[in-house]
Amino acid sequence: IASHLLAYFFTELNHDQVQKVDQYLYHMRLSDETLLEISKRFRKEMEKGLAATTHPTASVKMLPTFVRSTPDGTEHGEFLALDLGGTNFRVLRVRVTDNGLQKVEMENQIYAIPEDIMQGSGTQLFDHIAGCLANFMDKLQIKDKKLPLGFTFSFPCIQTKLDESFLVSWTKGFKSRGVEGRDVVTLIRKAIQRRGDFDIDIVAMVNDTVATMMTCGYDDQNCEIGLIVGMGSNACYMEEMRYIDTVEGDEGRMCINMEWGAFGDDGTLDDIRTEFDQEIDMGSLNPGQQLFEKMISGMYMGELVRLILVKMAKEELLFRGKLSPELLTTGRFETKDVSEIEGEKDGIQKAREVLVRLGMDPTQEDCVATHRICQIVSTRSASLCAATLAAVLQRIKENKGEERLRSTIGVDGSVYKKHPHFAKRLQKTVRRLVPNCDIRFLCSEDGSGKGAAMVTAVAYRLAYQHRA
Ligand code: BGC
Ligand code: MG
Repeated sequence: IASHLLAYFFTELNHDQVQKVDQYLYHMRLSDETLLEISKRFRKEMEKGLAATTHPTASVKMLPTFVRSTPDGTEHGEFLALDLGGTNFRVLRVRVTDNGLQKVEMENQIYAIPEDIMQGSGTQLFDHIAGCLANFMDKLQIKDKKLPLGFTFSFPCIQTKLDESFLVSWTKGFKSRGVEGRDVVTLIRKAIQRRGDFDIDIVAMVNDTVATMMTCGYDDQNCEIGLIVGMGSNACYMEEMRYIDTVEGDEGRMCINMEWGAFGDDGTLDDIRTEFDQEIDMGSLNPGQQLFEKMISGMYMGELVRLILVKMAKEELLFRGKLSPELLTTGRFETKDVSEIEGEKDGIQKAREVLVRLGMDPTQEDCVATHRICQIVSTRSASLCAATLAAVLQRIKENKGEERLRSTIGVDGSVYKKHPHFAKRLQKTVRRLVPNCDIRFLCSEDGSGKGAAMVTAVAYRLAYQHRA
C-alpha cells in the first residue's frame, strides 16, 4: 500500500507540475483556431510577395529561383556541389549515370567553418570555401577537370538567372562582411581565380529548400514543395508563372523560394510572439529579422527553453529559485537536449542529466517541468510550420482548381529528422488544418548536395537540348 500511495503521490505531483507549466506558457500553446488565423495571414503575405506593387515592401519575399523543370530521368554526368548554410559545410562529387536506370553516386567531405570566418570578411569566407574545394579536388585527383558545379546556398538571394544570386541578408549564425547585396557566384569565381590552381564551371545556385524539392522530385513526380526545419526554417513550392509578377512570362510554373523565416518581420505576428521570442531576437546576430524562424528553428529552440527555465527560476517557480552560471549562459541548453529529453516517456532521467551537466541540482518536479517546457516549445514549432504549410497547400490547390489536392512535400533538416516527435506532430497538424488534401511527406536523403547536382544536371540537359 505504501508504494501504491507513493506512486499515486508522484503522479499527482507530476500532474500539478505539468499544469503549472501549461498555465505559465499559456501563450505558447496555440489552438487550431489560432493556427488557421496564422495560416490566413501567411496566405496574404504570399500574395504580397508575388504581386508587383506590394513585392518591394513585403516581408515574405517569395523569391523566384529560375528552376522550372524537375528531373526527367535522362540527366547524366559528373558534377561538383557545395552545401553552405546548414549544420555542416560540405563539398561533394555527384555522378549521375543514365544507362537505362538512372543512378546517383556521391562522395562528400565535411569541412569546418570557424566562427571567426563566419563572422569575418567576405574575402576570408570565400577564400576558405575555395580552399576546401581545392582540398577536395586534390584528394579525388580531379583538379585538372573543369567540372560543372551546383551551389546550395541556404540564405535569401535575389536571382535573375540560375547562375546569378545576390545575397539579401545573412541569417542563422553567419555575418560575413561585404557580402550582402553582392552576387555570390562572382565572389566564389574570384576566390577561385585568386588561387589559380583549378577551374570550375558554376552552373546553378540553389536554396536548400529547392535542392530538397528537386531531390525528392526525382523519386516522386508529385513533389512540388520543399521544406527545411533545421538550423533555420523555410519552404519553396511550384507557383504558376502567370502569378509571378517579378518574372517575365506566363507559361508553366517556377519554383518560388518563399523565405518564410521572415514572416512577422513587419509586426504581423506580434500578438503571438512572447517575451521569450523578443528576448531571443534581441540577443541574435540579426535583430528584427527572421522572426518566424526564431520561433521554430533548431538554432533557437534550446535557447527558448533555457530562457523559460531562467525566468521561472527567477520567479521561484523552479529550482527553489537557484540558478547556475551555466544555465545563465546563452546557448548552453541545446536543441539536441530538447530532442533527447522528449525522447524519453517522461523525460525525467534525461532532464536531470542535462540540468546536472549545467550545474543544477534539480528535484523530480523540476525535471517534470523541464520536460513539459520542451514539449510546449517544440510543439509550438511544429504547429507554426503546419500553419504556413497549410497556406501553401491551399494555394497550390486553388491554382490547380482541384477538389482534392494530391501533393508531396520533400523535407529535410535536423529538427525534422532528429526530434523524436516533431515530424509526426507536424504531419498530423497539417492534415487537420487542410483536410481536403492527400499529402505525402518524403524525407530527402542528402537533399542539399544531391539537389544542387540535380539542378545542375537539369540545366545541363536543357542547355544541351537548346543547342541541339
Ligand atoms: C534561410 C533560408 C534557408 C533556411 C533553411 C534560413 O535562415 O534564410 O534561405 O532555406 O534558413 O536553411
Ligand atoms: Mg542542409
